[in-house]
Amino acid sequence: MEYKNLSERDKKYIWHPLTQHKLHANMLAIVKAKGALLYDDQGKEYIDGIASWYTCMYGHCNEAIVEKVYQQMQQLDHVVFSGFTHEPAVKLSEALMSILPDNQAKIFFSDNGSTSTEVGIKMALQYHSNKGEKRNTILAFENAFHGDTFGAMSASGLSVYNGPFEDFFIDIERIPVPSKENINSILEKITTLLKEKAIAGFIYEPLVQGAAAMQMHDAEGLAKILKLLKQYKVITIADEVMTGFGKTGTYFASDQITEKPDVICMSKSLTGGLVPMAITSCTQDLYDAFYDDEISKGLFHAHTYSANPTACAAALASVELLQSSEMQANIKRVIASHQQFDAEIKNHPKVARTRQTGIIYALDLNIEMERYGSVRDKIFKHFMADGIFLRPLGNTIYILAPFVITDKQLQKVYTSITNLLEIF
Ligand SMILES: *Cc1c(COP(=O)(O)O)cnc(C)c1O
Repeated sequence: MEYKNLSERDKKYIWHPLTQHKLHANMLAIVKAKGALLYDDQGKEYIDGIASWYTCMYGHCNEAIVEKVYQQMQQLDHVVFSGFTHEPAVKLSEALMSILPDNQAKIFFSDNGSTSTEVGIKMALQYHSNKGEKRNTILAFENAFHGDTFGAMSASGLSVYNGPFEDFFIDIERIPVPSKENINSILEKITTLLKEKAIAGFIYEPLVQGAAAMQMHDAEGLAKILKLLKQYKVITIADEVMTGFGKTGTYFASDQITEKPDVICMSKSLTGGLVPMAITSCTQDLYDAFYDDEISKGLFHAHTYSANPTACAAALASVELLQSSEMQANIKRVIASHQQFDAEIKNHPKVARTRQTGIIYALDLNIEMERYGSVRDKIFKHFMADGIFLRPLGNTIYILAPFVITDKQLQKVYTSITNLLEIF
């Protein structure tokens, strides 16, 4: 097949996300993907070191998922999910219940990560309102990222993205992520906030903050925060859009924390990257606060594509893959491989710090640099020249590859990182 000037034709009509077009004019045309590989229009292949934003964890164009989606598309493509139901949604809810933390009881569908957190925030606010209590503040971590809709953006702490909208944000209070050193001062701060503010919910990325450059925090400290907040009926919302579905070494990051959340947000690898979908799950107690004779106490939030049957089929196939012994073995293999690479690289003079949670591995270079600057571009180009797609965040280089990445491909990624250290 021939692809004529995709990059040139792209410029005429397309406005890309997260892009300053004046500084970044040329988009690379990708024409094919398989397993851990992406192929451009010149036939060059790239290892997808970030699983296309943490989605294609079972490999691109995974045959088991493609087959299920194809079958579903011929049976039932789409139907309104308000007043109707269908088998793919029912089966998916059952499958998810078998892997979610035990306290989760209900599944609410939407179609992207931002809407999954937006729904979580709305659940927390309306929960108290339904119980006749006005609570209007949401608690969040510093440097959080929860998405680009208004509630999600308000809770996010990265001002590069959300600065122009600040005046319209919902009321947010922030706490640092917990460490062994700061946990007592965080608990004190929360105690003070609980007296001064009507806190409805706490939204957090458990164990790993993705957009904050894979910053990792202490599970014990997080459990203490959750425990304290629950005593005051603050709805705890785990944003597992990035951490969900095996990436941290367990099905969910929340599995590694003794206190379970009231609400869990999922999206990125829910469908294995094939089609967009998101879910916000919650406890029976939360659901019960909306179950009433009064219509207005229901959760009046809907998206046209809520529980789209083909998306449900993709998600169901993905959950089955995640549970398979083959995929679990892949996860263990990648974890061990990163650990071995870490032992080799962590004392390198150009490496400031390394960290790993499950298959998520990050290293900070020993240099100061801007999040979007020329040094960052130089590093990006180095990897792309080597046929590796990694997306450095500031001076952090991280690997979050599909579980199915081969040992040989992993070695290629490690070698390219090691070579980068030599040219700096
Ligand atoms: C990506 C992400 C989101 C937003 O998801 P979108 O599908 O991009 O809207 C929210 N929270 C976390 C933790 C994410 O990584």
